[in-house]
Amino acid sequence: MQVYEAPLRDMKFVLHELHNDDGFGNLEALAEFTPDLTDAILEEAAKVAQEVLLPLNRGGDVEGCILENGVVRTPTGFKEAYAMFRDGGWCALASDPQWGGQGLPESVNKMTEEMICAANVSFSLYPGLTHGGTTAIEGHASDELKQRFLPKMVSGEWSGTMCLTESHCGTDLGLLRTRAVPQDDGSYKLTGAKIFISAGEHDLTENIIHLVLARMPDAPAGVKGISLFLVPKYLPKDDGSVGPANGVSVSAIEHKMGLKASATCQLNFDDSVGWLVGKPHKGMEAMFTMMNTERVSVGVQGLGVGEAAYQSAVYYAKDRLQGRSLSGVKNPGGPADPIIVHPDVRRMLMTMRAYNEGCRAITAWVSRALDAEKHATDPEARQRAEDFVALMTPVVKALFTDLGFESANLAVQVYGGHGYIAESGVEQYVRDARIAMIYEGTNGIQALDLVGRKLPAHMGRYLRSFFHPVSTFIEANKADADLGKMVEGLEKAFGALQLSTATIAERGMRDPEEAAAAATDYTRLLGLVAMGYCFAKAAFVAQSALKGGTDEADFYKAKLATARFFFDRILPQATAAFLAIKSGKASMMALEAAAF
Ligand SMILES: Cc1cc2nc3c(=O)[nH]c(=O)nc-3n(C[C@H](O)[C@H](O)[C@H](O)COP(=O)(O)OP(=O)(O)OC[C@H]3O[C@@H](n4cnc5c(N)ncnc54)[C@H](O)[C@@H]3O)c2cc1C
Repeated sequence: MQVYEAPLRDMKFVLHELHNDDGFGNLEALAEFTPDLTDAILEEAAKVAQEVLLPLNRGGDVEGCILENGVVRTPTGFKEAYAMFRDGGWCALASDPQWGGQGLPESVNKMTEEMICAANVSFSLYPGLTHGGTTAIEGHASDELKQRFLPKMVSGEWSGTMCLTESHCGTDLGLLRTRAVPQDDGSYKLTGAKIFISAGEHDLTENIIHLVLARMPDAPAGVKGISLFLVPKYLPKDDGSVGPANGVSVSAIEHKMGLKASATCQLNFDDSVGWLVGKPHKGMEAMFTMMNTERVSVGVQGLGVGEAAYQSAVYYAKDRLQGRSLSGVKNPGGPADPIIVHPDVRRMLMTMRAYNEGCRAITAWVSRALDAEKHATDPEARQRAEDFVALMTPVVKALFTDLGFESANLAVQVYGGHGYIAESGVEQYVRDARIAMIYEGTNGIQALDLVGRKLPAHMGRYLRSFFHPVSTFIEANKADADLGKMVEGLEKAFGALQLSTATIAERGMRDPEEAAAAATDYTRLLGLVAMGYCFAKAAFVAQSALKGGTDEADFYKAKLATARFFFDRILPQATAAFLAIKSGKASMMALEAAAF
């Protein structure tokens, strides 16, 4: 059974108690968003997630989207839920007030995203892509385009898409063929076919604004010849109302493994009018603004589904009676004990719990940096925040989505055969979580981004934004009488990360395939160290709360227990990743392609 209650206490912990010393300073511009105010917003968001979106999750999966006469219908209830979501101002949370947004801190926005994704990840894509689109327009479009499109997109009246993929061109965008021909009035006419476009067509908004990558006639070959265009489904009239259709049609919706209530469309552009966003042939720069926003959000999707899977598994493990506890009967009045008594079931539940709490703590840290890169007044702090966001974006995307999928899989295992049967609802989490490892750049491509671009950038400067706080924390705390052992574990994993970084830099210089062969293991290793740092800090906060006396002792004791589990049972994976990295590319690349 799909159950979900927003983990508000843990969200407040990571937002208000965990990262107060992160070195990004007090962000005066956000001072009006006091903890009382942001907590109240999170509580309201929880109601929307639990009461409006969660009830539509299972039905949306069963019913899916339907294409009829060129029109896509979202599942029953989605239209009403979207209208409620839009009218409640939820589309505009983190957007700039200049365009009608509420300018909320990213830290609060990301927690809200987690709740929405946990309740209904298919639904999350409709407002989510619009938000990504507005960031690209804000960052790169002309003032005229901003004035014309941003207010309606920020409010959620119009939605957005990102149109990159074509049938022959996925990861390698340099291959794309969609053409954009300049017109005398400064606009362009776009012609081409895109596939796999999320929210490409639907019945939730009166207009859809496509951000389309295309190639001008004089464009150089490859990625250096790609430009970005804004192409509305309906051309807006001067008064802002919706005008004539603009030659954008949907030829099919994809039949896919999960995410059934999100319309994934094949779109045709037929002499569709569009306007350039950013400079000619610099479309990737503009698109990366959108993709970086989306990559962190897709990571949070993984976390959201992982949390929902965890809670659904806990619910079942307390209810399902099978076998007796090895340490003595726990449910003498019943025919058997609930399966939560069994160590192997605990292993699965604690693993999911640790993944979720670890990822949530990293989310709050990265979101603080997202806020600081916009609002920090000290230029050094701003630079550090930018470096940290650049470094962590591929880690958040790849780590969280891998772990979210693993959690969904573990939830099915906790349910046993019942998990494999559709009625339980948990197999949906596996299907829904799977795509997040693929889209917005596959996790393999995230790892290459980390190792190939982020590590060497500015002579390793991005990495310093991470290494510095971790090593400072280790030095300050490894002698602690109670928690020093945890810090020692972190120190060992951190040492493995430092050694791996040097190995990759040295081998990669000689042979880029060596760096590429290490990339996925290195991304996991960095993610594990980041989680370890957050858990160690969390343990200190919890310990100090317990020592000082608190009426929330249960919460802090549970935090300490989860941290201990992480150090005992999950962080040792860092050694395996280190050994894999050290082994180099030889065995991976030994066979000729013909031998497979
Ligand atoms: C449900 C869904 C929704 C989507 N939504 C959108 C959307 O809204 N907009 C949009 O534009 N696209 C969207 N996509 C497309 C998605 O982003 C692509 O599927 C993804 O980027 C991978 O491209 P591909 O499928 O062509 O795989 P390929 O690029 O063919 O990759 C296949 C495999 O090869 C690996 N690989 C490829 N090149 C390299 C390399 N150089 N080095 C190492 N490994 C490599 C990949 O990691 C992958 O494992 C969506 C896809 C799905 C399924």
